[in-house]
Amino acid sequence: MNIYTVEFHTKKGLLQALDNVSLTIRTGEMVCPNGESGSGKTFTPKSIMRLTDYENGRIAQRQIRLQYIRFDRFVATGIKLTSRQKDGDGISGEAVSALDVSVQAQIVNLLQDLQRKLDTTYLFIAHGLHIVRHISDRIGVMYLGKLVEIAPSDELFRHPAHPYTRGLVASIPNPNPKNRRELITIQGEIPSPAKPPSGCRFHTRCPLATSRCREEVPELTAISTGHYAACHYPY
Ligand code: SF4
Repeated sequence: MNIYTVEFHTKKGLLQALDNVSLTIRTGEMVCPNGESGSGKTFTPKSIMRLTDYENGRIAQRQIRLQYIRFDRFVATGIKLTSRQKDGDGISGEAVSALDVSVQAQIVNLLQDLQRKLDTTYLFIAHGLHIVRHISDRIGVMYLGKLVEIAPSDELFRHPAHPYTRGLVASIPNPNPKNRRELITIQGEIPSPAKPPSGCRFHTRCPLATSRCREEVPELTAISTGHYAACHYPY
């Protein structure tokens, strides 16, 4: 699956919803885009599937066969889906955080059953890294329409290389009192996609930002096998 750029002409000017996002999902894999509101994680599957208004928009490239399902609708249609889904088809799902935790757990179990039985592929969007930690094969962290880090989920939690990912991981509460640590929140607000910061889009909130970050866009670069981060000074 490749999306390069999705742009909209708005009253405020050109709004770049996704910028050079390129993602490959292997058959039978579950990949979870994640990030704050406005990161582009929900927009990614909707763009691929044209579930949004493209009157003034443009997708540079598209090659995908996906079915988009919200968690709440999955509760109602999950059983039918079991019998209709064909081997190797993809499902793009979005978790509804308002759902009861036990219902979410049941749905996740059902998704994993389907994955085992039918080799189903998932592009799974949830609001929070902690929700996808134990079910995803890989996690892609997005910020302001860009993919800033992608890695196998264990590796991402063990060794977050991008300062934004580190902030997201550090902000997850740990329920085990023995492992409680100081919670760190990412400072400031996510900027408007109509006026993204120059260079690295995260530089206005990054504690490591330098003048180079303000001028030069960091490219996704291999940190280790299967682990990529877009940062001039990765951890
Ligand atoms: S490139 Fe610079 S501003 Fe961007 S995340 Fe890395 S250190 Fe921070």
